[in-house]
Amino acid sequence: MSSAVSLIVGLTGGIGSGKTSVADRFAELGAAVVDTDVIAHELTSAQGAAMPAIIQTFGGGVLQKDGQLDRAAMRRLCFSDPAMRNSLEAILHPLIRSESVARCRREANADHAPYVLLVVPLLIESGAYHEHIDRILVVDCDETQQIARVMARSALSEKEVHDIMATQASRAQRLAVADDVLSNTGARDELLIGIQALHRRYIELGRRAGVTEHV
Ligand code: ATP
Repeated sequence: MSSAVSLIVGLTGGIGSGKTSVADRFAELGAAVVDTDVIAHELTSAQGAAMPAIIQTFGGGVLQKDGQLDRAAMRRLCFSDPAMRNSLEAILHPLIRSESVARCRREANADHAPYVLLVVPLLIESGAYHEHIDRILVVDCDETQQIARVMARSALSEKEVHDIMATQASRAQRLAVADDVLSNTGARDELLIGIQALHRRYIELGRRAGVTEHV
């Protein structure tokens, strides 16, 4: 991606691993953050760009009263029927990808941040972002911690969290392709030291890449 900012870091991790918490800390330090989950929510809001195709494919039964996508109903539908899941992904994934790449470009060209962090929960599984990122940062924690944290913040049962995890890459698969790993197995405060170190490293990598690009 040719731009004023020269480093795009793809941030990923399993459900509940701490991606949002980590991305928020990077943003506080000055990184530009583009979050595909935020984009997915926007696309499936009442006036979202994905809604006409979703209504045409699934009917009005997957909407909440205010017209936004009923995510829990959709999740149940997709889990019981892989064809439904494929249809939803065929609508959403290209839209999410093109919007997130466009936002990364805008952030890079605005040149107000030293690098861009692109948050993609299924970065490794989809493979669709690799040409757009320079390195992969994995947020890692134990699977038991993932389950406990997701259950604490949502109405999902342990089995439902397990089922979602089964559709995602394993911890070992993620760690195998990581350029950088942030361990989120401890207290939140412990994370910050690792984030600050990576922030300094990304500034330096971005600077070096920028120099090389302009030689
Ligand atoms: P998802 O994949 O579901 O979007 P995520 O990877 O973005 O999740 P977060 O939302 O950052 O993960 O964290 C999941 C939950 O765990 C949140 O409620 C968060 O406050 C909590 N959490 C994150 N890190 C820690 C930690 N180190 N200790 C305790 N709780 C944590």
